[in-house]
Amino acid sequence: MEILNYINGEWVKPNVAEHADVINPATGQVIAKTPLSSKADVDAAAQAARAAFDGWRRTPVNDRVQYLFKLRNIMREHGDEIAKLITEECGKTFEEAKAEMVRAYENVEVACGMPHMGKGEFVEDIAPGIDELMIRQPVGVCATIAPFNFPGMIPFWYLPYALAAGNTYIIKPSEKVPMTMQYIFKLIEQVGFPKGVVNMINGAKEAVDGILEHPIIRAVTFVGSSKVAKYVYATAAAHGKRVQAQGGAKNPVIILPDADMEMTTRIVADSAFGCAGQRCLAVSLAVTVGESKNEFTELICDAASSRVVGYGMDAGVQMGALINSASQQRVEQLIALGASEGAGVPVDGRGARIQGFEGGAFVKPTILSEVQPGSEIAKTEIFGPVLSLMHVNTIDDAIQLVNSGQYGNQASLFTSSGNAARRFRYEAEAGNIGVNIGVAAPMAFFPFSGWKDSFFGDMHGQSTDAVEFFTQKKVVIERWPKEWTRKF
Ligand code: NAD
Repeated sequence: MEILNYINGEWVKPNVAEHADVINPATGQVIAKTPLSSKADVDAAAQAARAAFDGWRRTPVNDRVQYLFKLRNIMREHGDEIAKLITEECGKTFEEAKAEMVRAYENVEVACGMPHMGKGEFVEDIAPGIDELMIRQPVGVCATIAPFNFPGMIPFWYLPYALAAGNTYIIKPSEKVPMTMQYIFKLIEQVGFPKGVVNMINGAKEAVDGILEHPIIRAVTFVGSSKVAKYVYATAAAHGKRVQAQGGAKNPVIILPDADMEMTTRIVADSAFGCAGQRCLAVSLAVTVGESKNEFTELICDAASSRVVGYGMDAGVQMGALINSASQQRVEQLIALGASEGAGVPVDGRGARIQGFEGGAFVKPTILSEVQPGSEIAKTEIFGPVLSLMHVNTIDDAIQLVNSGQYGNQASLFTSSGNAARRFRYEAEAGNIGVNIGVAAPMAFFPFSGWKDSFFGDMHGQSTDAVEFFTQKKVVIERWPKEWTRKF
């Protein structure tokens, strides 16, 4: 597939020499090349989006959401094709890819409620004959910078809300997985948005910097690692932009002795090893409390070693490859680091060989046991199918351990005690809390973001927070004296 930019309703080949390889993670083969667009390419997209803005914001909101209804339907009709591309370039299983897209459709559906969600406020007679109203107006040209792990879903945490609210848009997909959005933009083209309303720039750092520095672009959303999130947050803010940047994670789960161990193990294994652990809400630290240790350790080791790993399109495969061989090496090195810090490795997924896919970036599910609080492996985001086990004696110690982490994307508790659950919900320091839930991903009608180093910004993604982010409020105070109105 040739990877092109989409600017002002046209497919454009950027005039650049540098490309990034797009690799099928299961085979290691190069399947496409991402052009690394320049700041001039970003400028062309920004100018097109700016030129389209006036006409789009004046399009009635009811008409704007008709485009989104059409987009949602056409994406659903082509859901299998989209999911195949996700598996091909991202490595996750076909089922996981289809589930990813359900989240994208849901966000489009919620954004179609913009005629209601975007309404303003009005108070008559704040003083005799004086009315005050608040109206929401679009911000202008907005942009999203996306990571590799959900190539189809993540742009939809933002795009549909921004468009429905009257903004025009630029998406920069991850250079590692450009094919999914390339295909989705073919569907966007069929929807027939006015030229310049939705644009796409492919590239890496230079394209990101072009977005962050561009005076026309008024708001930026970012999802990716915390290091880049911090950079994006600071740089966009220094250029006067509204910005939200979602970062990395190290999600803990606490397992109390009264939890249903069979169910807990199944759910924790799905969370830790689903999408090969490359999910910002994946559980990566399991903290057993008191007597839960032995049974959970035994069951989770069984679950890890019996998980079927392979090519994501093959039937029965439960876990695919990591994004590329660099990531595979990094994860294997981190397992070695854990072992060197004293952790046991009762299930070791290093050196995985999948017949027929010998060039693939596979690491099988791995368990590190007796991981010590404060060790590097307990703190570092692994972003692979590795679950670290820790043990404490009380729920107090467990909550303290959870809250001592640098990140705050998700924290979960497994228990049958309402009191423990209520306490955990109250005290845990994370933006997404699961109680007997492994991946606490909010539905599209709730806001989504982490806390601490998992998020830099204020308003979150999805739902009414996205409405806040993509609109600016204007307050109007009007005086209409009684004597004047009586004339009519
Ligand atoms: P990444 O930070 O490497 O890349 C994200 C985006 O930033 C890409 O579009 C990339 O082109 C760009 N980029 C990379 N380096 C840059 C630089 N130095 N300057 C400017 N731009 C740069 O992240 P990734 O590896 O694609 O994704 C994995 C990370 O994303 C993990 O840390 C994961 O936890 C996180 N993530 C977080 C969430 C969330 O909601 N909090 C969701 C998904 C993924």
